[in-house]
Amino acid sequence: MAKEKKYVKVQSEETEGKEGKVSYATDSKGNLHKVEKESAESRKGRASSKRIIAVLCWLAAVCFEVLAIIRLLGKGILVNAISNDVTFVIICIAIDLIFAIIGSLFWKKANHIDPASSKQPVKFWINNNLGLFVAIVAFLPLVIFILTNKDLDKKNKTILTTVAVAALAIAGLVWFDWNPVSLEDLELDKAKIELVNPDGIVWVVKDAGSSHKYHLSDNCYHIKNREAEAITIEEAYERSITDMCNDCYKKALKEKGYTSDQIDKILNATTEEEVESIIDGIQLQDDEIDENTEVEIEEEWEEENLWELLWGLLE
Ligand SMILES: [Zn+2]
Repeated sequence: MAKEKKYVKVQSEETEGKEGKVSYATDSKGNLHKVEKESAESRKGRASSKRIIAVLCWLAAVCFEVLAIIRLLGKGILVNAISNDVTFVIICIAIDLIFAIIGSLFWKKANHIDPASSKQPVKFWINNNLGLFVAIVAFLPLVIFILTNKDLDKKNKTILTTVAVAALAIAGLVWFDWNPVSLEDLELDKAKIELVNPDGIVWVVKDAGSSHKYHLSDNCYHIKNREAEAITIEEAYERSITDMCNDCYKKALKEKGYTSDQIDKILNATTEEEVESIIDGIQLQDDEIDENTEVEIEEEWEEENLWELLWGLLE
């Protein structure tokens, strides 16, 4: 199965960098691309600090909601600065929304840097639903206070309710992750990539726009004439680039000597364990073939010796 690497070229030379290891990937034109391989601890650390910022933003959002509610309760808070109640509440909703959005963006980024495992249901649920919960907490009580307020006239009530409900909807939409990731997805992709490239390095196009695809070779026809960048699969996940290009993956597997049947099985695997068991199966088959070949060679050798012996006797 060991063949010379042509399509997937990665120089395995590694040096210690500041936050992890540094690897070099060679592109199809022979240029070296430096790839920073961040350590797991460093990634977790970065994710944690992003989550702390998110929580602080969400707390700030709720504070502005509380300010609006206090004003609606008839307390003369900041009346000298903004005398109109409606204006004051709208400003509070706007700042509330800005903090809710910033918090969601930070938390979502942290989810991509350090994906949660679906095998830890509580942590997984919190990671993927906390922002929605915060959006509800940051706006729904205010909506209820506006609707039940006796001092607001009908027109102002309609304006404020519309603004607050719209803010809730926007916060919910911003939270929604169109490309969610789990630790299992990452582990599966890593296991697949390691079959063709033990360094776990993939190619992405600079300014990919809305594309979520990564490639196993910069020579893949989808990206051939575009400026490609070598990154680790973890980094690709961080950038929400989570779809493997099957075309170059198939080609790379073929180059490694896998049969079409085996390639199909590998492509359809849905868990890291499945990929491993497919590879174990292939290796078992290879071992059997090797043993059979050895037996055949041994038998041939014995036959040859026997004939030599016979000829010797006849002579
Ligand atoms: Zn490709």
